[in-house]
Amino acid sequence: MQRLAQQWQRIGRRIGFVPTMGYLHAGHLSLVKRARSAAGKNGVVVLSIYVNPTQFGPKEDFSKYPRDLRRDLKLCRKAGVDVVFTPRDTEMYPGKAKGRYSTYAVEERLSQTMEGAARPTHFRGVTTVVAKLFNLVLPDVAVFGAKDWQQAAIIKRMSADLNFPVKIIVAPTLRERDGLAMSSRNKYLIGDLRRQATVLWACIQLARVTVKRSKTYPAAKLKAAVSRLVECEPDARLDYVEFFEPDTLSPVAQVRRGTHMALAVFAGKTRLIDNGPL
Ligand code: AMP
Repeated sequence: MQRLAQQWQRIGRRIGFVPTMGYLHAGHLSLVKRARSAAGKNGVVVLSIYVNPTQFGPKEDFSKYPRDLRRDLKLCRKAGVDVVFTPRDTEMYPGKAKGRYSTYAVEERLSQTMEGAARPTHFRGVTTVVAKLFNLVLPDVAVFGAKDWQQAAIIKRMSADLNFPVKIIVAPTLRERDGLAMSSRNKYLIGDLRRQATVLWACIQLARVTVKRSKTYPAAKLKAAVSRLVECEPDARLDYVEFFEPDTLSPVAQVRRGTHMALAVFAGKTRLIDNGPL
């Protein structure tokens, strides 16, 4: 992968990159489109598929995470991806099984809250694998989804802090018709859980309406209202909801127009996240 990328660099082809964990859906493919237009006429688009073990906690769904490489490759071909990069664990983390792998990239501020608080080693795994993928794919531009807002903020921070010569683009969240954000994990939502999962979108709508009605509103009060809305669903449980400045991720006490909202909800055993501007 690295040699191929170096060859492209030498002949001046811009490289657009979309990192994923596979089990692709229309959200992923919208990032491909964005990468294609950002890379330009003579550009190439690389999509990586790698279920990165270091970003999963010990009790999380790493081994169960949905995988279907044949289907993914078909979708990539149709979407005009030039190269699909599917590294193995032994290539990404050489010597790890023997305890020899010992280097990680760690963002220390933005990764403390929300997903970082709920999943303590998650972002260390994310920043490490993205740094490694950047070194392998040598992208001019990389596209991430707004669906993982905090992740995108952390990747932008890491790229600036570690001087990666890559432009980070954040593309909008694609949703199902009922508002549920597309996600590979939606596959886990069977029976009534699929309906109950729309509560995340309902919470974002509730916050939006609230901000529209009263110019400022106490974050604590809105958190309580969100919590009550989630409790209406028999199998849903709120993990967290946060109101914050979109770029710095700093929590706000008063919610107003432009404040960003993010939440995580368990639908049965499936943990879903969503976010949006108010
Ligand atoms: P994943 O395969 O879940 O790690 O996601 C790979 C990339 O796709 C990340 O940058 C995600 O933010 C992005 N992504 C996931 N779901 C969506 C969606 N519904 N709309 C847009 N981008 C998404």
